Amino acid sequence: MTRTHVVNRTVGSTCNACQEPITEDTKKLRPDGTMFPECRPCINRKRRDKLALLKETDPEAHKANRDRERERYRAIRKQFLDMHNHTCRCCGETHDEFLTLDHVNGDGAKERGGNKNGPCRAYRAAIDAGPNSPDYRCLCCNCNFAIGRYGYCPHGNLPPRNASSTNELEIPPNFTP
Ligand SMILES: [Zn+2]
Ligand SMILES: [Zn+2]
Ligand SMILES: [Zn+2]
Repeated sequence: MTRTHVVNRTVGSTCNACQEPITEDTKKLRPDGTMFPECRPCINRKRRDKLALLKETDPEAHKANRDRERERYRAIRKQFLDMHNHTCRCCGETHDEFLTLDHVNGDGAKERGGNKNGPCRAYRAAIDAGPNSPDYRCLCCNCNFAIGRYGYCPHGNLPPRNASSTNELEIPPNFTP
């Protein structure tokens, strides 16, 4: 009797690490399209643990790794800014230091996975979506903040975001406008 060793993992398979079902949001694919046996949060957690250990055991290698990550982030961000002419879609701000990726539908926090997925993934998705994507745009931090908090930017150049997706009601207790 032959046994099948190859498991075709799909969404709904159990994560090898946390034993939770893997969802569309938590799956991680290899370059060949097959799925990792663990969910993305577990993969990221293991990676963080490994890095923490490396920091203790081999600070030089840890620093080199961090520099590579930083370089990778800068390159991806530059690609995104190039695509958007280094300009805020709303007010025309052109200083890179003020520019950021805006999720048109306000689901940035979800996509960042509470910052666990890192910003590279969001920039990568925005680059793949192209310069005229209805989902991603380049805004300065002022316009991004206004539309995120209030659902509109007072410059008046952006269509208002629908009320249900703004976080105006979720202002943190220590927040002072
Ligand atoms: Zn897991
Ligand atoms: Zn702006
Ligand atoms: Zn604006």
